[in-house]
This record gives sequence, C-alpha cells and structure tokens, in this order.
Amino acid sequence: AKQYDAKTPHLNLGTSMPESTRSALGLQGLMPPKVESLDVQKKRALLQLRSKSTDMEKYMFMANLRNTNTTLFYKLICDELEEMAPIIYTPTVGKACQEYSNIYPFLAPIGVPDGLYITKNSLSNLPQILENYSSALSKGAALQPEIAVISDGSRILGLGDLGLNGMGIPVGKLQLYVAGAGIDPRKTLPILLDLGTNNPALLNDDLYLGIKEKRPSDEEFYEAVDKTMEALYKEYPDILIQFEDWSTEHAFELLTKYQHKHFCFNDDIQGTGAVILGGLINAFRLVEKDVPLDKHRLLFFGAGSAAVGVARLICDYFVIERGMSEEQAKSMFWMVDSKGLVRDNRGDQLPEHKKYFSRKDDTGADLKELADIVDVIKPTALIGLSSQPNKFDTDVLKKMGKLNDRPIVFPLSNPASQAECNFEDAMKETNNKVLFASGTAFPPYKIPKTGETKVPGQGNNVYVFPGIGLGGILAKAKHITNSMILAAANGVANSLNEEERSKGDLYPSLKRIRDVSAIVAAHVCQAAEKEKALTNKKLEGKNLDELAKIMKEKMWSPDKNEKEIIEDTTR
Ligand code: NAP
Ligand code: MN
Repeated sequence: AKQYDAKTPHLNLGTSMPESTRSALGLQGLMPPKVESLDVQKKRALLQLRSKSTDMEKYMFMANLRNTNTTLFYKLICDELEEMAPIIYTPTVGKACQEYSNIYPFLAPIGVPDGLYITKNSLSNLPQILENYSSALSKGAALQPEIAVISDGSRILGLGDLGLNGMGIPVGKLQLYVAGAGIDPRKTLPILLDLGTNNPALLNDDLYLGIKEKRPSDEEFYEAVDKTMEALYKEYPDILIQFEDWSTEHAFELLTKYQHKHFCFNDDIQGTGAVILGGLINAFRLVEKDVPLDKHRLLFFGAGSAAVGVARLICDYFVIERGMSEEQAKSMFWMVDSKGLVRDNRGDQLPEHKKYFSRKDDTGADLKELADIVDVIKPTALIGLSSQPNKFDTDVLKKMGKLNDRPIVFPLSNPASQAECNFEDAMKETNNKVLFASGTAFPPYKIPKTGETKVPGQGNNVYVFPGIGLGGILAKAKHITNSMILAAANGVANSLNEEERSKGDLYPSLKRIRDVSAIVAAHVCQAAEKEKALTNKKLEGKNLDELAKIMKEKMWSPDKNEKEIIEDTTR
C-alpha cells in the first residue's frame, strides 16, 4: 500500500478501504471495521446532505467532502447531478462567492487547495506557484492539468465585481467538467486572477481575502492577462483555458485577441451561443413543415452581450451551414433594447455591438410596447435576454400563439426571478403549443384537459462546455474555432434520444449528460478534423458514433477511480 494515503483527499477511500490496506497502514481499530461499497457510502452522504436545512450548509458540506474524500464527492456529483448542480453551481455558488472570504478556511484548508490564486504581485513567480499547486494536489505525483477555468472575478454571474471571492466559479465550473465530461479532477485547474476589485464593500471589509486595490487601467490589465497566459502555456503547453465571468467588454476583447492565438474559449459568449442555437435547431426542425428555415423572423428582446453573442452564432449557422447569404441571414433578425427596436435612424449613437443587427428600415419606429412590436414584426421566435422579468406578458404570449402554430419562446434571463415569463403562463396563453426553453429550470406543467405533463427545456450551458472541452482536448486541437462551436450546437441538437424526440423536447435530459457530452465532443472533434486542427492522429477518419464511443471510454469516473486505487494499493 505504498501509494496509499488516507489523508490525501484524492486517495482516501473512506470505509471502502479494503482490509489489506487498513492493515498495511495500521488503521485497524482506528475506524469502524465494516468495509463498504461506494454506493453505500453515497447513500449515507446523501442522507446527511439532505438533512441540512439551507443551501449554503449543503454547499459547505459538499466542500468538506471534496476536501476529505474526492472519490465520494464525485460519486454524488456524477450520479445525482440534477440534485447537486444547484448546490455546487448556480444558484448556490453565487451565495458562496459572496460569502467566500467569510467561510474560507472551511472551504479549503491550507494544503488542500481549491484552486490557484494568481495576483498582480505573483506574476513574476508563476512557475513556482504552478509547481506548488500540482504537488499539493497530488502529493508528488504531479499531473499535467488538461483544462483551466480562469476568472478575474469582475462579473460573477449577475452579482457584479466580487474580486477574489469569485474563485467559487472556476471551482464549480470544473466540477461540472468532471461530472459532465469525465475530465480527471486532478487534471483540472481553477484559477482566480486577482488584479484588485472596484467593489467598495469588499475594499472596506476586514475579512476580504483579495488585493485591496482598485482594478488597474486597461493597459495594465491586458498586460497582466498576457503574462498569465504566457506562463500557463509555457508550463502546460497543451492546456485548454476557458474564460468565465469576466466583465463584458474585456471578455469580448480577450476572445478576439486570443481565439486564433491560444487554445481557449469563452463560455459566457461561445458556450451560451452554442446551447441556445442547439435548442433552436431542434425547434426549427419541429416547425419545418409550416415555416421553411429562411422564413423565420427572430425577435430578440434585449440587445446586450448575451443577445448579440447568441444572434451572431445563429447567423453564422444560417450562412455557414444552411447556405444563406449574409444579407439574407441578417435580415431575419430584429433586436429590441431599452429604447425600442434597434434601428439606424433612431437618432441615437448605437454602441458598437448593436450595429451589426441594427435595422436599416423604419418599421416599428416609435413603438415602445413589446406587444405592439410583435404585431408589426410578426416573429416566429421570441428570445428574451433582457433581465426584465415578466415582459412576455399575457398580451405578448397570446399574440405569439395567434401568429404561429408553434411559437418559439425562449425567456432566457437568469435567475428565475428575472425571466421574461414562466413555463406555465407560456403554455396557458398559447394553447399549450409553445416551444419553450428558459435560462433557469421551471417546474413541469400538467395540461389540465389531458393530464399530460410537459417538461420545459433549459438552455443550460452545461450541455455544451464539457463537450467542447473534452472534444478539444482529445482532438489535441490548437484552437477552438467558430466551426467547432457551431459543431457543438449541432451536437446538442443531435443528442436527443428517440423518446425525447417523440415528446417534442428541445434539449436532452440532464441525466444523460455524459452521453450528451460525448456526442458534443464527437461533433467538435470532427469539425476540428475538417479544419485541419485535429492533431491527434488516432482520431482521424472516424465517424461520429465511433468518436462518441471513444469519448465515453476516456471518461474518468469515481467507480473506475476507486477500483484503480484499490488495485494499486493491494498489489
Ligand atoms: P446586458 O448586457 O446587461 O443586456 C441587457 C439588455 O437588455 C440590454 O440590451 C438592455 O438595453 C436590454 N433591456 C433592458 N431593459 C429593457 C427593457 N425594458 N426593454 C427591452 N430591453 C431592455 O446583459 P447580458 O449579459 O446580455 O445578459 C442578459 C440576460 O441573459 C441575463 O439575465 C443573463 O442571466 C441571461 N443569460 C442567460 C444565459 C443562458 O440561459 N444560458 C446565458 C447568458 C446570459 P440597453 O442596451 O438599452 O441598456
Ligand atoms: Mn458565466
């Protein structure tokens, strides 16, 4: 049992530890003698978890479990993702980030790091810091990380600038990579780049653990990120870096700067685009008989970064995959912001990101109410990315129902309290005809007349980013290209099984997340090959099914991990 160490979270198997290991380590008598399966341990952990009364207590319980028995932690996350995702990620992770500096020692005891902290003062010392992290994690047997999620804490979810407290996001996102795509947890690298914060409450808080300085100028900022990227790629040449929750302007700028230079992507922009396009592709298929693809009229309510990012990818899809001209594709889009329809002749100076979809014509000029805009534009699809709750009201929904046999309505604003409408209202006001997806999951709706229960779709990024990561890593691609993001959208759209298709669902069940990620990864891989970006020769010339099978086999799982450790320690 030479490699075994009950105090290293990645090696500790708790009560699953076999007799022989216990005796080799002199642990007999120091723990209950029963040798249990991982399933029985999971049952006990779930019992304890469910007895907690608040979500934060549950979050802390899971953090503690991760720090003591990683295998059991991932057993819960992988097997019970629907129950665990809201605890380890949104919405609870938002609260955990806000509280991060208050609960820190509990979340990550010294010596069991939750992630890598890089500050502007440590930029010169990066190689040493990276080495420290690897050896702390694996106790000597350093593993090359395959994927990093990096944030500067400047725009955490919808909560604003949380500075160093934003570490909860890279940590949580990478746990979803493990659950969703079977990335080995020891090969994940959460990074918080602390360049200060502009949040006055944090700057005045004695307990705040980050650098107590205002954020630097743009010039200093881009230089710091450049240095960080260089050091990371020097140490780990093949690492995939995912950008998460950076302030909007910086996010777009960094993506433009690095997209063709480094192996990276931005989930807020590209992941969101892919997952929404994936659901829309399925919606387009369901209405194909009545509405040919080029007859769609897409009305975006909200014209911010999310809306423009999503619309751009849909437009790319029309042009690159469906053979439309750019002008034709663009003419299918309308955007509404806080001042009404986005038009060239509106008499205001449009910000850069709104110009692409700005209308040349004056249709709908002077209209303020969404219901009136719906009347003149006659959209086939209404997509909400405005953070304005309940703006898809009875009037708007009824009109969508009258205009379309199957209206497409996606109220995507998060959290649920910000959503443009809920599932129940969307069903009621459209005679149960709506093709629906929301940002936050809504409860299923039982149609009173028929007793049939309908489950709403959720445009959750978790359907795509694990597959983008896995596909990119296994392809050993050098870049994540636009075609690979489009392929990910097609992957989600194609991931539904017979049953889900026959119910008219837009998204697959979260229960099948690993199958979904394998399919997404296969699509990403194939796109990489078409673009000559695939450098892993073993994956050349394979079809989608073969690729998905390979992806699935490569996945790390807590059960496999336990078996390996036991074999290792009893050898
Ligand atoms: P943002 O940049 O602040 O954009 C908000 C947009 O809504 C702006 O264009 C704003 O208009 C517009 N708006 C505000 N009030 C309005 C009103 N009364 N009528 C019409 N438009 C109005 O925010 P964002 O980052 O794009 O995010 C928007 C929402 O999308 C958030 O709730 C976020 O949670 C959600 N989201 C969901 C997903 C997902 O489901 N997977 C992914 C990403 C984002 P002005 O431009 O005139 O200010
Ligand atoms: Mn995000």
